[in-house]
Amino acid sequence: MAKTPRKLKKARARHAQSCEGKQPHKSKREAQDVAKKLRVERGRRGLQAYNCQTCGKWHLGNKP
Ligand SMILES: [Zn+2]
Repeated sequence: MAKTPRKLKKARARHAQSCEGKQPHKSKREAQDVAKKLRVERGRRGLQAYNCQTCGKWHLGNKP
Protein backbone atom coordinates (compact mmCIF):
# COMPACT_ATOMS: atom_id res chain seq x y z
CA MET A 1 0.00 0.00 0.00
CA ALA A 2 2.82 2.43 -0.79
CA LYS A 3 1.02 3.79 -3.81
CA THR A 4 0.36 7.53 -3.67
CA PRO A 5 -3.27 8.32 -4.22
CA ARG A 6 -3.83 10.22 -7.46
CA LYS A 7 -5.71 12.96 -5.67
CA LEU A 8 -2.74 13.67 -3.43
CA LYS A 9 -0.35 13.79 -6.38
CA LYS A 10 -2.53 16.39 -8.06
CA ALA A 11 -2.72 18.44 -4.88
CA ARG A 12 1.07 18.44 -4.61
CA ALA A 13 1.50 19.58 -8.20
CA ARG A 14 -0.85 22.48 -7.60
CA HIS A 15 0.98 23.25 -4.39
CA ALA A 16 4.32 23.68 -6.14
CA GLN A 17 2.80 25.57 -9.05
CA SER A 18 1.45 28.30 -6.80
CA CYS A 19 5.02 29.31 -5.90
CA GLU A 20 6.63 28.61 -9.23
CA GLY A 21 8.17 31.62 -10.92
CA LYS A 22 7.64 33.73 -7.85
CA GLN A 23 10.39 35.28 -5.89
CA PRO A 24 10.23 34.33 -2.22
CA HIS A 25 10.89 37.15 0.21
CA LYS A 26 11.61 36.50 3.83
CA SER A 27 9.63 39.42 5.18
CA LYS A 28 6.74 41.67 4.25
CA ARG A 29 9.09 44.64 4.39
CA GLU A 30 11.44 43.05 1.90
CA ALA A 31 8.62 42.16 -0.49
CA GLN A 32 7.25 45.68 -0.26
CA ASP A 33 10.67 47.12 -1.00
CA VAL A 34 10.89 45.02 -4.16
CA ALA A 35 7.35 46.03 -5.14
CA LYS A 36 8.30 49.67 -4.75
CA LYS A 37 11.43 49.18 -6.84
CA LEU A 38 9.46 47.49 -9.61
CA ARG A 39 6.94 50.30 -9.56
CA VAL A 40 9.65 52.94 -9.87
CA GLU A 41 11.93 51.16 -12.31
CA ARG A 42 9.47 49.29 -14.49
CA GLY A 43 6.20 51.05 -13.89
CA ARG A 44 4.57 47.97 -12.41
CA ARG A 45 1.43 48.95 -10.56
CA GLY A 46 -0.87 47.17 -8.21
CA LEU A 47 1.70 44.78 -6.79
CA GLN A 48 0.85 43.61 -3.34
CA ALA A 49 2.91 41.64 -0.85
CA TYR A 50 1.15 38.60 0.55
CA ASN A 51 2.14 35.84 2.91
CA CYS A 52 2.16 32.56 1.04
CA GLN A 53 0.27 29.72 2.67
CA THR A 54 2.32 27.21 0.73
CA CYS A 55 5.92 28.11 1.55
CA GLY A 56 5.35 30.56 4.39
CA LYS A 57 7.32 33.29 2.66
CA TRP A 58 6.21 36.50 1.02
CA HIS A 59 5.38 36.89 -2.65
CA LEU A 60 4.19 39.73 -4.80
CA GLY A 61 0.85 39.41 -6.48
CA ASN A 62 -1.52 41.62 -8.38
CA LYS A 63 -4.15 43.39 -6.44
CA PRO A 64 -7.56 42.00 -7.22
ZN1 LIG B 1 5.04 30.43 -1.85
